[in-house]
Amino acid sequence: MPGILITSKQNLIRIGIEHTGDMASVTPEQIIRADIRALSAYHVAEATGMVKLDAMENPYLLPEPLRGELGKLLAEAAINRYPDPRSPQLKAALREAFAIPAELDVLLGNGSDEILQILALAVAKPGTTVLSVEPGFVMYRMIAQFAGLNYVGVPLKADFTLDEAAVQAAIAKHQPALTFIAYPNNPTGNVFDRAVVERIIQAAPGLVVLDEAYHAFAGGLSFLDALARYDNLLLMRTVSKLGLAGLRLGYLVGKAAWLKEFDKLRLPYNVNVLTQVAAEFALRHVAVLERQAAQIVAERGRLRAAMAQLPGVAVFDSQANFLLFRVASADNVFAGLKARGVLIKNLHGAHPLLNDCLRVTVGAPGENDAFLAALAAELEARR
Ligand code: PMP
Repeated sequence: MPGILITSKQNLIRIGIEHTGDMASVTPEQIIRADIRALSAYHVAEATGMVKLDAMENPYLLPEPLRGELGKLLAEAAINRYPDPRSPQLKAALREAFAIPAELDVLLGNGSDEILQILALAVAKPGTTVLSVEPGFVMYRMIAQFAGLNYVGVPLKADFTLDEAAVQAAIAKHQPALTFIAYPNNPTGNVFDRAVVERIIQAAPGLVVLDEAYHAFAGGLSFLDALARYDNLLLMRTVSKLGLAGLRLGYLVGKAAWLKEFDKLRLPYNVNVLTQVAAEFALRHVAVLERQAAQIVAERGRLRAAMAQLPGVAVFDSQANFLLFRVASADNVFAGLKARGVLIKNLHGAHPLLNDCLRVTVGAPGENDAFLAALAAELEARR
């Protein structure tokens, strides 16, 4: 009977489950893939009541009166209907806000995380490899694993630049179907040398996805103009860091020949009615979001300079809305900041190159001051 998974003893025997009396005792060990059971879930720290500087969010809401206007639009939105699966108005707003050329296609995701999943599913066949550089965005590895793909993470150099020879050698050896490069990179914050990235695109036998999640803070650096030149290049972005993380909206830009294949894997209603309405509205006012991004960039400079003054803090250069820094004992400093009400991200243990590294998101001036005061006090207390 359709809809009933396990009905008969024969079925249970067929899938290797013991039938004990009337009830089958089915355990995750019998049903769930061993590699999935071995994973731990993506950890999101509890942040209630904290100065929250752990997740690269924009600290600012839309200003009034835009918030009021948005409220009216949302109240009128047809939440009784399924969303338009093609999201035409939202796509038009994205194209206009970010000058996406008409000859390129756009695919929307429920966050860019979902786009990563679509890409991985589309190439998933036994023996296929996904390649990225490390330390990098952890979802590349996780989603490759979810889809049953091999994952190769090529270490960056100690200064977080690309190890071109190592990447080229890994490409030649593993022939990846997908290569992910974040530009700027998370969690290091730097942008890679463009010429090196272009040579990687040229050498890659499969698709190269440039992930420009932090585009808004990178002073205009982008590979958008390179899409026309490389058949195997795709560009992924998100509106999350720009101030709309709660809407869950990412987008992929590339040639139609690729995107029409990925679109088959996209669940038809992946971008909900409220997100379509709210994101379209916000993007029609993208100048407001860009001013907020400019404030964050200015604060990044102030924060970096102030952190560099603190004894025992080595802070890395960043083109993103966060700063990576190294201290003598990251675990302890992280815990101390948390006890002082400031939540950042502890990267110690995430990768050998991130030993004793912490990552702080650039917040509003008051939040950054609270972080600086807590960090100074914590370092002082540890002397
Ligand atoms: N790419 C990079 C490099 C990121 O750092 C993030 C978020 N941390 C994402 C993609 C995912 O963004 P979202 O799913 O919110 O669009």
